[in-house]
Amino acid sequence: MTPQELVAAALEARTRAYAPYSHYFVGAALLAGDGSVILGCNVENAAYPSTICAERVALTSAVAQGKRDFVAIAVATANGGSPCGTCRQVMAELGLDMAVYISDGAGNYHTTSVRELLPDSFGPQRLAEGVAADVAAGVAAAGSPIV
Ligand SMILES: [Zn+2]
Repeated sequence: MTPQELVAAALEARTRAYAPYSHYFVGAALLAGDGSVILGCNVENAAYPSTICAERVALTSAVAQGKRDFVAIAVATANGGSPCGTCRQVMAELGLDMAVYISDGAGNYHTTSVRELLPDSFGPQRLAEGVAADVAAGVAAAGSPIV
């Protein structure tokens, strides 16, 4: 699977976007370590916060299919828009080492990475370190560091 093929898949997914409110159609194509490609598109909702982005649709769908190893994700929008902060955090959780191809509607893309999009990200190691520090300080059992 070449980057161009993954971008083409993201462009195809973009045609399925449900975006009656923003009219900003987004497609994503996630390449798993087993070679499979999982598609996502943004799915909006009249209750706006219930909207989910294309990247998170692809990632959560892949997890539901039993996949946990990801190589790359392509994201396609009309103007080459970059993933939002929430999606960057989810990408960091599930695929910190992924390549990211960001494409416009014509298939012109540039390559970046999750690490470049979200430097110094918060992840499982930071969480474990923080919990360990609170346990060592004797405050974790109280449920709040302010006692
Ligand atoms: Zn997003």
